[in-house]
This record gives sequence, structure tokens and C-alpha cells, in this order.
Amino acid sequence: MKKPGETVSPSDLDVQAIREQFPILNREVHGKPLVYFDNAATTQKPLAVLNALNHYYREENANIHRGVHALSQEATAAYEKAREKIGRFIGAAETREIIFTRGATESINLVAGTWGRKFLAAGDEILLSAMEHHSNIVPWQILAEQTGAIVRVIPITDSGQLRMDELEKMLGPRTKIVSIVHLSNSLGTVNPVKEIVTKAHQRGAVVMVDGAQWVAHAPLDVQDLDVDFYAFSGHKLYGPTGIGVLYGKAKLLESMPPYQGGGDMIASVSFEKTTYNVLPHKFEAGTPHIAGVIGLGAAVDWVSSVGLEKIAAYEQSLLSRGTRLLSEIPGVRIIGTAPEKAGVISFVVENPPISTLDVGMRLDAEGIAVRTGHHCCQPVMDRLGVSSTARISLAVYNTPEEIDFVAQELGKVIAAAPKPARGPAATVGPMQFPPAAGSSPRAVADELIEIFDFLGDWNERYRYLIELGGKLPPMPAELKTEATRVHGCMSLVHVYARRAAGSEDSLEFLASSDADIVRGLLAVLQKLFSGQSARAILDFDTDGLLKRLGLDQNLIMGRRIGLASMLQRIGAEAERISHPQATGA
Ligand code: PMP
Repeated sequence: MKKPGETVSPSDLDVQAIREQFPILNREVHGKPLVYFDNAATTQKPLAVLNALNHYYREENANIHRGVHALSQEATAAYEKAREKIGRFIGAAETREIIFTRGATESINLVAGTWGRKFLAAGDEILLSAMEHHSNIVPWQILAEQTGAIVRVIPITDSGQLRMDELEKMLGPRTKIVSIVHLSNSLGTVNPVKEIVTKAHQRGAVVMVDGAQWVAHAPLDVQDLDVDFYAFSGHKLYGPTGIGVLYGKAKLLESMPPYQGGGDMIASVSFEKTTYNVLPHKFEAGTPHIAGVIGLGAAVDWVSSVGLEKIAAYEQSLLSRGTRLLSEIPGVRIIGTAPEKAGVISFVVENPPISTLDVGMRLDAEGIAVRTGHHCCQPVMDRLGVSSTARISLAVYNTPEEIDFVAQELGKVIAAAPKPARGPAATVGPMQFPPAAGSSPRAVADELIEIFDFLGDWNERYRYLIELGGKLPPMPAELKTEATRVHGCMSLVHVYARRAAGSEDSLEFLASSDADIVRGLLAVLQKLFSGQSARAILDFDTDGLLKRLGLDQNLIMGRRIGLASMLQRIGAEAERISHPQATGA
């Protein structure tokens, strides 16, 4: 990124010196050096931030704005100094335009809940883009429900670029607000915020920008952009979690009712009449996240000392390198190829098809942290025809070598995948329900416990699960319907259960998934339950077993994969068999 009269080149940045300031980058994951590419979810923290938090709690901890004593005054000064810094950092005209919140999500909710409820009425329009994060969709949907306003969606192109021509057509007399992401976390698209603001203002609409991703990647000047509201989170800007910022033009903030009631946001309280405090305190009820604010101030100092122009230029060079290397891997398709991009490479592996969940887990085994899933942007996934992507997201401490490494390891993951991965859809034919694997779920569980104990560490258990999944009997294509689909899973899961042939009360089932690891878990469930009596299935303590097998260390994984949904489906089918009349079976 060039400033007038100045050229910044990627080599201006000493990445090794930067890395030394992030202690976590020295750690290993699964015995391999950590390669952290999940920066859009949250960035790591430099020593400057860690030390600021430590210093606050060790030396200054007191509640703010309330005490006459020295500690309270020191804490208050540190808190308000951070507000000034952050105001300067984003180019706010006045410090009182900086409101501290818990994060971008709360900042958007604050605007929807206060400005929106005051100024929107039935029939008014809220324009969002098709690439928004759920936190810039759902607050507006709630507001629309409450007020009768209408949410309209500005379309995007197949490459993930905003359709400015459509926006132009959609802006009209009923448009009250355009709320748009600055830098898309799922695609990496950079939206032309200044142009959007100009057009929206011409029609009298207000513009809110979700800058959760932008602030760490390029300079921001809210006055130059002329945005009305701007939201971001500290934790994506090398700062602490639980702290974020809402910038708002003072005039707008003045016109809005408070968000929450409580201490600090009032001028005076009586049962007859309460008056509110001035900006910014009107919007900061209760004891705030003082340490978080101080930590965010330190983060802003740190980022400014490196220089956002340098960071932007450096990260662009990483982005180009990553985009080129990934594009060269046969079978990889990059999702999000807009001309203006920053910081994010989202991709899918199509040939052979490997689920993003498996891609993520295999890279994790090499110490590489990437994100997989819908990235809280389900509508954009639907729009682009994918259910999820794997995402490399960059920070200033990433290196060209790390980019080369992830490309190399991804290449290996693809090379190791069987071709064709899952073969054509299973042909119609006799269904092969496996026989019961033991006399009861308990007996099968004992066997599994023995095997898992013998296997020891997670890597070996993981390999065993993948192997088991490979043996899952095929599910005929005609059974993979919406009725058998299990939602809430990170992969495409189907479970088909029926009363076992020739039995009064046993259940047998077939299951499928496009992710190897999920097939492994389904194989465990099938071993446990298929061919067993409905009562035995319902009585069995599955959670206890998963814990015993050490699969609960991956409870998060279990949750993400949707284990609970799969179990629920099997339980519901068992219930149906054990009470046929009640459920109409
Ligand atoms: N908007 C975008 C574009 C984001 O990437 C995120 C976080 N992934 C958010 C909003 C929400 O941020 P937070 O969870 O910190 O409130």
C-alpha cells in the first residue's frame, strides 16, 4: 500500500523481530512448530499487550470513574488514555465518539438496538450485503422483527465482489441504513466503503461498517471514509478478547437512547426521573473491561509502532504468494477471488473431494492452524454453492516460509487421498446393514475401550477412527435425502435407521458423511448400536463412553462435528421403535 510520496515495500518489515515479540509462536502443536493461520478468528498477542495487562492487574487495579483514591485515578487515567489513542488510531474527530463494547458483535447490536429502534419504522429498509458475518445479519433481523423494517441483501458476484450496480438500484427513499463489512472474513473481499458511503449519504441513509477484520490489516480513517458507525474487536487487532469499539459520529450517538442501564451511564437517578451521562459514558453501563481497554490501547500502540502501511504491504505479498501456490495445486479451488482482497485465502479441495473438516484436521496434525467451516457466514456459502471452506488468514507475524509450508502440506494431503475419493454414489442394490457387533452396547463398548486403551495417544486413535470409517458400509444414494440428513454437523451427514429385519425391538442403521473423521465416529456409533435393542440404546451412557475413549478431549470437535445431532437422531429412531403407537411408526 502506497502513501502519497512514499513507497512501502514488503521487505521494510522485519518479520523475525516481530515474531520474537509473540511468545506463543515458540510453542509446538502435536510435536511440530506452530504455524498459526487462524488470525481472522483471533490474533496472537505481543509482549507489549501481555505486559500491559500484567502491569494493570499488578500495579493499578481499581475501579474507574468512581474513586478519589490514587489507584482509581491511575486506572481511570490509563483507561481514558487508551480511549484517546484508539480515537487517534482510527481518525475519530473526538474522543467521546469511541464507545467501548465487548466486541464488534456488541457494537452492531448496540446500533441496531438503540439507533435502529428509535429511528426505524415499518417498511423502512436495511441494506446488508450477501457476504456479511452473522453478527452483521442477525441484529438487523431482530430489529426488523421488532419494527417491521425490511432487510434487503445487496448481491455479490461469483468472485465475491459486491454488486455496486445493484446497490445503486436498491438505495431508495426507504433505505435508512446500509450496514456492510469492510473486509470479508470468509472471502477476503475488500469493499469500497468510501464509495458506498457517498452513495448512501446522497440518499439520506446512514452507513455502519463492520470493520472486525479491517483494523489489523490496513490504515483506517473514519473521517475520510465519512462512515457513521464503525465496529471492531480488540482480539483481532493483537489485543485482548472481550473488548471492542463502536465508533459513532457524535451527533448520531447523542441522538440515540442508552443501550443498557446501570452505573456510570447516568447523570442522576431518582425513582421519578433518571438523566443520562454524556458521551461516551452514556453507552458504558457498569464496570467496563478496564484491563481489556488498557490492553487494547497497548495493542494499538504496538500496531502503530510497526506501521499499518508496512503491515498492509507485507501481508499483500503473503496473500499473493499463498494465492499463487494454492492455485497451482490441482484440485484446489479458491473461494473469493475479488480483485480487491486482503488477508484471507478460503479454499475447497474438489479433486479428489476432501471435506474441509478433514483438510483442517490433517493440517492440524502438522502443526498448522487453519479454520474450517462456514466462518459464521452461512448465506455467502449458500450463495457460492459450498457448505464450508478451509481458510488461511494472515497476520503480520506469518512468513513466506509458512505459506510455502502450508501449500506443501496441503499438496501432500491431496496426494495421499484415494482417487476417486468416495467413488460414485453407491448403486441401488440390497442394503448391507451390519450385524450387531456384540451382545449389547455395553459389551461392544468394553471392546472399544480395550482397543482405545491399547492405542494410547490421539494420533493413533485418530488413525484408527479413519480406518473404521473406511469400512462403513455404503449408504445407497436414494437414502441420502433431506429426511435422513442430520443438520448441525460440519460435514454432510445422513443417518437412515429402521427396525432390524425379523426383530421386534432392534434398530439397525446406515450412515454416511463426506468427512473421513465423521465417518469414523459414525462407524463407532454403528458398532455400538446397530442391531441392538431400542431399550438398550436408549439406556446406554454414550457420553460416558466417549469420555472413556478419550474422544471428549475433542469435545469441541465433537460439538463442531455435530456428534450430539447424530446421537439425537439415533435416539429418536430408537424411541420410535420402542413406542411405535405413540410416534405413529
Ligand atoms: N464481523 C466479522 C467480519 C468478523 O470476522 C467477526 C469475527 N469473526 C465478527 C464480525 C464478530 O466479531 P466478534 O466475535 O469479535 O464480536
